[in-house]
Amino acid sequence: MQKEIITPAVASKALKIFQREVDNDGDPRSCMLQALKETLGSLIKYKGYHCPVCAACQTEMHPERNGVGVVDYADYGPVNLWEADLWECPKCHIQIVVGFGDYPISSHIEDDFDKIMELYGRESIIIGNH
Ligand SMILES: [Zn+2]
Repeated sequence: MQKEIITPAVASKALKIFQREVDNDGDPRSCMLQALKETLGSLIKYKGYHCPVCAACQTEMHPERNGVGVVDYADYGPVNLWEADLWECPKCHIQIVVGFGDYPISSHIEDDFDKIMELYGRESIIIGNH
């Protein structure tokens, strides 16, 4: 899975490197973000990784955020924490989570499970899988 996906955090970092709040045309970060997404989104596609497609809108979805946490729940509570990527349809804004690794990054039987869940909640977002 291609992991070099542009997120708002990456776009902000790119602008920080150039020490500015706007890009060369004076456009704000949101325009810079869109330009980066369009440019690098094409590169990702042609590296052999096809973007998800929204069936309802018949259009390619865009990477919204990478490194989100997904928690599988059993009847007794959270079981496994996975890292994955959040994609969104630019037309209907439906969101999907894809790009899971081969293994969960933590499990409820590990001592630091709660700490890692808390870290994902603080630094990213956690999506429940009930
Ligand atoms: Zn759609």
